[in-house]
Amino acid sequence: MAEIIIDGKAVAARVRGEVAREVAVLRERGVEPGLAVVLVGSDPASQSYVGMKERDCAEVGIRSFDTRLSEETTQEALEAIIDGFNADSAVHGILLQLPLPGHLDAEAAIARIAPEKDVDGFTPISIGRLVRGLPSAHACTPEGVMELLRAYDIDLTGKRAVVIGRSVLVGKPMALLLMEANATVTVCHSRTRDLPGVCREADVLVAAIGRPGMIDASYVKPGAVVIDVGINRVGDRLVGDVDYARVEPIASAITPVPGGVGPMTRAILLKNTLAAAERAGR
Ligand code: NDP
Repeated sequence: MAEIIIDGKAVAARVRGEVAREVAVLRERGVEPGLAVVLVGSDPASQSYVGMKERDCAEVGIRSFDTRLSEETTQEALEAIIDGFNADSAVHGILLQLPLPGHLDAEAAIARIAPEKDVDGFTPISIGRLVRGLPSAHACTPEGVMELLRAYDIDLTGKRAVVIGRSVLVGKPMALLLMEANATVTVCHSRTRDLPGVCREADVLVAAIGRPGMIDASYVKPGAVVIDVGINRVGDRLVGDVDYARVEPIASAITPVPGGVGPMTRAILLKNTLAAAERAGR
């Protein structure tokens, strides 16, 4: 049995509570934090995510500016909306819900977001600042993982961390944040040779793959901390990238799916929006 089942719901609730208190302080000073959420098209999963983010904002006192654009929206129209929010002092954070419909250039749209309003940490400036070790908004999911590790006093100094996945949304920023926290980091991907062997060296193993239950006990060193970023729909269930039933007995700490990393992603978005409003209100 793992000593620790990492409770992302509880940590996320604590973060939301802290954000709500700080938002109240800002409001007293006359600053109302605002988040613009831009959704293009009618993808049901994206609609549901956007709805949840807006409810989260309302709960902590952040004003959300809801912008839903049709599937046929042009690049010019999308960028004009982003430019408008860049110029609007009531908006402190801009969230462009991904993926965008195929005819749109997501890279160009993301790069259009003013760096100081980038609460997703996805713009080239934010990623570049992270690489340089400068203060920046960190991508919500990897920063959520770091918050979980801090919440459970899991010290990373000198530890071997292995991240499976090299996406710009999760794997790459995850590796950079672990490195910033003094872990010795290896990044794996679909071309990695002997993936189980590399993973078994990990004191901290982060799976961000998108393959349901792929990481079984053969990938895990007994006593490792296992963080499952994966969210995969299998039938009517959500499952992670880790085979929880087989890995939980040998891990020292593990995140469940659902209820692990997922709630943290949403909580960090609120934290990043608050931080952007605090910077703007100074
Ligand atoms: P991507 O598909 O962009 O990246 C997946 C990564 O996994 C790639 O680097 C890929 O390698 C690697 N990979 C795929 N198959 C294998 C394999 N068989 N062996 C080794 N590596 C492999 O996904 P994301 O990074 O966007 O997301 C990863 C997972 O995290 C998904 O399940 C997603 O739903 C979930 N997610 C969860 C969030 C949360 O809030 N908890 C937020 C964001 C994502 P290569 O680069 O070589 O193709």
